[in-house]
Amino acid sequence: MFTCENCGKPLQKRDNAYFLMQVPSRSLAELQTFLKTNAVVYCPECLELIYRRSPSHQDQPTV
Ligand SMILES: [Zn+2]
Repeated sequence: MFTCENCGKPLQKRDNAYFLMQVPSRSLAELQTFLKTNAVVYCPECLELIYRRSPSHQDQPTV
């Protein structure tokens, strides 16, 4: 089972999950193992928060 890296909320099978990961160098057949060891998982709520905080996505200058 995957849990959100930020809030620790367990992600159910029908939830959307977002994986922050590097592109696998090996075959996609190993993707499940790859995700467990390399990916950072976020739930939709936390992804939105992180996306908004990201400096590369700031639309307005901070004061
Ligand atoms: Zn979360």
